[in-house]
Amino acid sequence: MSNSWFVRREECPACASKEFETIYESPYDEGPVKDYLIEFYTAQGTVEHEYLEGAFYVLCKCGNCKMIFQRDIPGDTLMGRLYGHWIDPKKVFNQHEKDDGLIYYSNYAQEIMQAISYFNASPSSLSFFDFGMGWAKWSLMAKAFGCHSFGTEISEDRIKYAESIGIKNITWDEIPQNRFDLINTENVFEHIAEPLNTLRHLKTALKPGGLIKINVPTANDIDRRIKIMDWKSPKGSANSLNPVAPLEHINYFRRSSLIKMAAEAQMEEVRIPIGNQYTYTTGWHGIKGVAKNLLRPIYLNLLNRHNYIFLRYIKGTKKN
Ligand SMILES: [Zn+2]
Repeated sequence: MSNSWFVRREECPACASKEFETIYESPYDEGPVKDYLIEFYTAQGTVEHEYLEGAFYVLCKCGNCKMIFQRDIPGDTLMGRLYGHWIDPKKVFNQHEKDDGLIYYSNYAQEIMQAISYFNASPSSLSFFDFGMGWAKWSLMAKAFGCHSFGTEISEDRIKYAESIGIKNITWDEIPQNRFDLINTENVFEHIAEPLNTLRHLKTALKPGGLIKINVPTANDIDRRIKIMDWKSPKGSANSLNPVAPLEHINYFRRSSLIKMAAEAQMEEVRIPIGNQYTYTTGWHGIKGVAKNLLRPIYLNLLNRHNYIFLRYIKGTKKN
């Protein structure tokens, strides 16, 4: 590697296959990727271009699980700069306080109620862990329902904040000493260097019958977007490349990649029964809200259209 701030991945991070091909590449220090980074990070902090000299944005596609991933990813130092400095923690916190309205909290409440109902147990007997807890909003909501609630974060600012509101931080090394009913990962797996190994590590902390939730961006038309490769399309638009955003969204999972990754970790998908989902669905606002609420359980359980899954370990396969 010509740039020592980056690390090269030699195998598919989801299924460990060594058969993958490059489908796109462009330098970080000139052209459309550089322009994208300036546009994207100026709004939330800064870009330190000196870390990017000579590096390339390289998208690969796995021949086995079809996952799309960035081959060259930030090493620990650059990851630290990116999440601790390029993205200004204070700016992001204030933005969250401004943007996160009732619907945001209502979605968390919905998810936590659906999970509690799946376990069919008193909330106070359940232990939930949010891996990559951010500002600990999800953990705080679980605590409000009476569950034992824990989280983890790499950012010191966020850990301090979480502890100030009563959410205990658990370090990576402490994870296997714990036993959880539910491990939540909300928009985390697309960011991490070793998703398969992370899943294996998290699995060690599950109670029998415990679940790991993975939610990652869904873009079922990702191949079309990559053919167009329009770096100027804004986030949320039809051609947006946000699902493969340079440096951050280093893993783009198809649903089949998630299932293959789970199988590699000797885990299998579990579905929250549709009845439990409807009983604890919130936010029936307007025609759009009603339609979304009616369709979501069908999309999740029958059509497999969302990258939102629950996993449990296959009996007899857990290593402690
Ligand atoms: Zn793969």
